[in-house]
Amino acid sequence: MIDARDVHKRFGSLEVLKGITLQVERGQVACLLGPSGSGKSTFLRCINHLEKIDAGLIRVAGRTVGYAERGGKLYELKEKDVARQRRGVGMVFQRFNLFPHMTALENIVEAPTQVRGQSRAQARERAHELLDRVGLADKAGAYPSALSGGQQQRIAIARALAMDPEVMLFDEPTSALDPELVGDVLDVMRDLAASGMTMIVVTHEIGFAREVGDVAVFMDGGVAVEQGDPAQVLIDPQEARTRSFLAKVL
Ligand code: ADP
Ligand code: MG
Repeated sequence: MIDARDVHKRFGSLEVLKGITLQVERGQVACLLGPSGSGKSTFLRCINHLEKIDAGLIRVAGRTVGYAERGGKLYELKEKDVARQRRGVGMVFQRFNLFPHMTALENIVEAPTQVRGQSRAQARERAHELLDRVGLADKAGAYPSALSGGQQQRIAIARALAMDPEVMLFDEPTSALDPELVGDVLDVMRDLAASGMTMIVVTHEIGFAREVGDVAVFMDGGVAVEQGDPAQVLIDPQEARTRSFLAKVL
């Protein structure tokens, strides 16, 4: 479902991704961890077309994303293909980025009606289903400012799901939350994984990564230092850099 090969990305003279390769099968969950600045967010942004890669190849559901090398040439997608493909990828950020002037329901209804041309009635019905799915059926009319961080993040997940993505990307979705609110968000993500969603999750929640992850990737300095079975990578890492990082977050 996600096929990234030897992905390179630089910002000016700074090479942020130095050849990342990762395959995620349909229905699998890959957990990415690593120190701040290691390129985790940039990698997710490349998958979602928010950044263009300089070399390598990324495919999502068999479709080429962004730049790709073709016989040494860089291949650029048309804007409309980018827009179409981005719709297949849902993204949830550390900061929930809900529209503050809209209720929870309106936040969820916005993209399907504006971008996909769904009728309001249809989008509202689906939004209610999604609110129920994230455990917030009673918050349809609430504004973000009246919701806790954990509730806002669950609305943000529902909003992403409203576009029926094939893949969900989570960038440290619980890092900005008070500790007591983390569990509810992880529960929603766990249910989503169990329902068969393909996911890449940047997280330092080692318990979640071990339990839900099919693959764990430890990144450092733009390199995937170690990747494989979470039980191996997170419990018995082979690389010294992975061991010292885990010792800090555990
Ligand atoms: P992580 O998510 O692992 O903390 P990031 O992908 O955010 O790492 O950042 C990796 C590196 O790329 C950092 O050194 C960061 O400063 C740099 N960086 C990220 N985005 C940009 C940008 N738009 N312009 C310049 N440098 C950037
Ligand atoms: Mg980041």
